[in-house]
Amino acid sequence: MAPTKPTPSKSSSDPPADKPKRPRNPPDPSRIKPKLPVNVNTQCAVQNPNGDACRRTLTCSKHTWPAKRAVAGRSAPFDQLLRRYLERKQEVWRAHGVAPPDYSHLSNK
Ligand SMILES: [Zn+2]
Repeated sequence: MAPTKPTPSKSSSDPPADKPKRPRNPPDPSRIKPKLPVNVNTQCAVQNPNGDACRRTLTCSKHTWPAKRAVAGRSAPFDQLLRRYLERKQEVWRAHGVAPPDYSHLSNK
């Protein structure tokens, strides 16, 4: 007496639904965000070769410290802004119960 396993009936009667090809909609202009101006007090702001200011944070590793110090328009010397930025960041880390990463090598340069 062979146990007859009920073979799982693959619904072969249902043909795989063809994925409807989505027509490529042109981007909705209302959803395009205007480029925010770079905040030189919280962002790297060093000019990239394409003319845009760098939008990374003050600790951006793509640009050198002298280049960041040379950015005009900051409300305070770069090192001061960096220290403030790192302090704020460390508070956030502590608030999450995580030991803040060691940034001391950054501000000692
Ligand atoms: Zn940068």
